[in-house]
This record gives sequence, C-alpha cells and structure tokens, in this order.
Amino acid sequence: MNRIRDGIPASPGIVIAHAHVLRVEVPTVPHGGMVGAEQADDEVARFEVAVEAVKGQIRRVQEKTREQLGEVEAQIFEPQLLMLEDSDLIGGTIGYIRDNHLSAERAFEWRVLEWEAHWSHTAHPMVIDKLNDLADIQGRVLRRLMNLPEQELDAFDGPERVIVIARDLTPSIAAQLDTTRVVGMATEAGTRTSHRSSLARSLKSPAVVSHGNLSDEVRTGDVIILEGRNGRVILRPTEEEKKTYRELDFQMREWEQEILLLVHLESRTLDGAEIALRANIDLPTEAESAHAHGADGIGLFRTEFLVVGRNSVPTEDEQFDAYRRVLSAFPDRPVVIRTYDLGGDKFPAFLHMPQEENPFLGWRAIRVCLDEPALFRAQLRALLRTAQLGDVRIMLPLINEISEITRTRELIEESIAELATEGTVVGPGYVLGAMIETPAAAIAAAELARHVDFFSIGTNDLVQYTLAVDRGNSRLASLYNPFHPAVVRLLNAATQAGRDAGIEVGVCGEFASNPLGAFLLIGMGVHSLSVGPSALAEIKKVIRSIDQGKARTAVEEALNASSPREVENVLIEHLRHQLDLSRFAGPWNLSRAN
Ligand code: PEP
Ligand code: MG
Repeated sequence: MNRIRDGIPASPGIVIAHAHVLRVEVPTVPHGGMVGAEQADDEVARFEVAVEAVKGQIRRVQEKTREQLGEVEAQIFEPQLLMLEDSDLIGGTIGYIRDNHLSAERAFEWRVLEWEAHWSHTAHPMVIDKLNDLADIQGRVLRRLMNLPEQELDAFDGPERVIVIARDLTPSIAAQLDTTRVVGMATEAGTRTSHRSSLARSLKSPAVVSHGNLSDEVRTGDVIILEGRNGRVILRPTEEEKKTYRELDFQMREWEQEILLLVHLESRTLDGAEIALRANIDLPTEAESAHAHGADGIGLFRTEFLVVGRNSVPTEDEQFDAYRRVLSAFPDRPVVIRTYDLGGDKFPAFLHMPQEENPFLGWRAIRVCLDEPALFRAQLRALLRTAQLGDVRIMLPLINEISEITRTRELIEESIAELATEGTVVGPGYVLGAMIETPAAAIAAAELARHVDFFSIGTNDLVQYTLAVDRGNSRLASLYNPFHPAVVRLLNAATQAGRDAGIEVGVCGEFASNPLGAFLLIGMGVHSLSVGPSALAEIKKVIRSIDQGKARTAVEEALNASSPREVENVLIEHLRHQLDLSRFAGPWNLSRAN
C-alpha cells in the first residue's frame, strides 16, 4: 500500500494528527412496508412531521453556521431545505403512500431512489453535491420515521485533535463537527469546487478530497500528515517526514505573511507592463473580500447563484440589487458580470432542463439564454441599469459564433428601447465581451473579436473541450492539463487575435492563479488576469517579480514544446531565475518535501 497519497487540494494548511474514520450511514428500511388504505392519512401525517423535524434540524445547523461563519456559508444549506419543500420529492412520496399503500419509509426510499437514478449518470461535482445532500436528507428523514437515534458526529472518543477521514461529507455533517477538535479533513470523493471544500476553506481548516479508498486503508487512531495545499496525505509518517512537514508549515505561514504586504502595491511587471489583477466571485458578499485582498475590480462575477436551487425566476430588481452590491465595493473599477451560465452542471428548478446524454455538450450557457428570451432579457435589463452606476461590463459565456453575439446585441437594443419607454434612460454605450472557452472560439477569435469589446478566456472549459477531458472527473485529473501544447497554442492564438483587433484580452479560468500559468499568459500579452480572492496576493507577487520581455521569450519556446511536461519545464526554467518557485504551491513543491 502506498503510504504517500496525492488527491485534490481543497483547503490549504498542514496538520499532523490522529485519524478519525467517520462512517455516515443511511438506515436500511425493513422488508415489507405495505399499509392498508385506511392508514394512508396517518402515514402521510407521520411523514410530514418527520420532514418538518428534519427541516428544523437543518435550520438549526444553518443558524449555527450563520453565527460562526456568516451568511454566504449559511446559504450552503439552502439546497437541502429546498429539497425538503420540493413538490416532486415530498409530494411524490405522499403520492406513493396514498396510491400504492406504501409505508412512509418505503415510499420516501422509493422516491429518493428515483431521484438518484435521474442524476447519477453524471460524475459532475454539482450533481455529486446534490446526491450527497439527498443522501443526508434520506438518512435524517428515515431515522426520524424509524425512531433511530441521530448520529453523534462530534462525540467521538480519543485524542483531542483529529483529522476526519470520510467517504464524503455533506455541509450539514461538516458543520456539525466540533471544529475545536477536527483540525483537518480528507475525503474519498469530492472536488475542489464541492460544497464541502468551500466550507473547509471558510473554516480555514486544511482539507483534501478525491483520495480513492482512503477510509479502507486508514484506521481510527493512525497518525497522518495532511498537506492541504498540494492535496497530499501521508499515512503513518516517519519522524523524518514529520520534521520536514513541520518546517514546511512554518515556511508557508511566513510566506503568507510576506505576500500579504503586497496587497495594495501596483500590479506591474519589472519592465513596466501593467496587468490588471481582478477577482472571480460567485456571490455578491465576496466582493468585499476581493477588495480587501487588493483586487483591481471584478473580472468574473458568476450570476448562477441567482437561479440555481431556486423554484422561481429572480426578479429584475432582485438582480439589480445583487449587481449593485458588487459595484458598491468597486465604484470606480471594472466589474465584469457574466450572464447566466446554466445547463451543464447548473440546473435551476424553475427551468425545465431536458435530460441529456452529454450535458456539457448540450443546452447550456448562451444557448439557454437565447432560447429563453424572457429570462435573458430580465438579466440584460438589470445589467444595463447597473451599468449606469459604474464600469459594468457584460460578459457572455460559451460563445462559439458571431450570431450569438449579434442576437444578444439585438436583445440589448430592444431592452434599451423598452427601458426608455418606461422612463429609464440607459446607454447609449455598453461594454460587451465574449468568453473564449471552446477550441472553436479560440480558432475563430479574429472574427469574433470584431464584434465584441473584450475577450475573457475561460481556461477551465477551454482545457476540458480541447482535451476532451471532463473537468469534474477526478479520475481523469492527471489528464486535465492546461500545459498541453494544444491548449498553449489555442491560448496564444486567441490572445493574439484579441490584441490585433485592439480589444482587451483577459483570463478568468483557474490557470490564471497558477504561477506558471500567469507567467505564460503575461508572456503572451494578456492585459488582465482574474483569480479567486485567496490567490490575489500570490499572483501579484508573480507579476511584480517578472519581466514581460523574458516571459515572451519563454512563450516562444513553449509554443514549440511537444508535451505538457516539456511546456512546464520550459516555464520553470525561465521563471526560476526571476522568482523563488519553491515557495508556491505546485508539484515542484511536493518533490521538495519528498
Ligand atoms: C472557465 O470556464 O474557465 C470559467 C471561468 O467559467 P466556469 O468555471 O464558471 O465554467
Ligand atoms: Mg466556463
């Protein structure tokens, strides 16, 4: 068995502690489960009482999370509360009790199984989160109905500080763990973007995910090292390994203090190239943190939070308020707001999304918006109104064709006219950009550039579509490589096409927060980078330490490389003379600790 195991990093930090293996069970419903027609009303009442009790439990955990961490984290529980109100899940169960004379336990189990079957054809993280949320609810409702005790999650015996090992953790389970004792978490499933990972980052607790069959290999009481920045777990470490990781922990803490000092300094290379360093946010409340970390505006505000997990369409005013809140953190800086990127992994309950064989190649993003003009128009109107108050830029996801841009412009013009007749004068100008996320868009970038005011390259999708590797499939994580020469050439082609057309070229995918990626992109000539708030200081450090001219030379060599490894080596070779790479997270750092 391999003692040193690498998974996906979810939340940074190093801890050395005893393991506690946590098994979260869904109770087995006994065989049988038929009831007489005359008992149906009683069964329905019993079921409704159980559902209300579970809602109460989850609301209490939500409230505790709101007090400890804030509103944004508390929202993680909304999907579970919505499920408990969903007419298809709850009403469907009641239908089974009445029509098929099933007991409440059996009827609920049936309905949950049907929901699981509906979703489980995809391995996408959002869907896995949903399945986990559902399994958690299933366990809770069944335990209520069967009068079984609740799982005592924070009452484990043994050492004071533990690292929890589990198959996966739902937010409601993670939030119930005693954070004074749980100093780290490692799970078998999950991805960096799953609910649990976000919660761990908020709790500032080191976490790693996607660690295969870890809970079979670790026993409660084993000592382990968890290294959250690179996703590593070391089972039963030697004294030498413990010493190495204690030193690494000390160095990382020093590094974090050092780069924090850069937050309010200029984002300019040594040879004077200004690179606008902006932030990616998913919720309006994150804008403040982006500002505090020195962001020069927002480079990607994802708006799906307005629709995902909701049963009703958000009103134009509700959207206007959300956009205005972000703008208020950056009243005189650019705020790039992306229109709904629905489909693929994001399903609003109010929109009937067809079941598709390949949702990421299906009805998603701009395709959904153009087919649902009422939904799109309300968003465009809210964006146009917000744009009157500051430098708001509208960004379209997954653009492949010019016609998608021109059709959006028609809707914008109609919205402007409509607003004018209602007495709201907007315009005349507005800023419209396209995300470059597909090989088609990168190859046809010169034509697209004539129709938009800026490009923002979405490397998360561009990599998955170029390499035909699902970005959410942890099994394929090693194949999902942004340094692949094909990706590098497409990035360069799109950047040059944008620059030749005289429009701004930015990058808002995760690649921009990789030091080697940022170096490569700056060498290609991008004007702006947009990264998560926690990566701002590190990328500022990269920008301020390098020379764009030298980065350009590295790009010329990288464009001739024949493998991802070769591309990385070229970049490391050029960058290591300008920056002490050992201080950043990345594979080169792991080899240092080996
Ligand atoms: C991207 O694809 O790189 C991107 C930024 O968009 P998202 O991650 O929301 O798909
Ligand atoms: Mg994308």
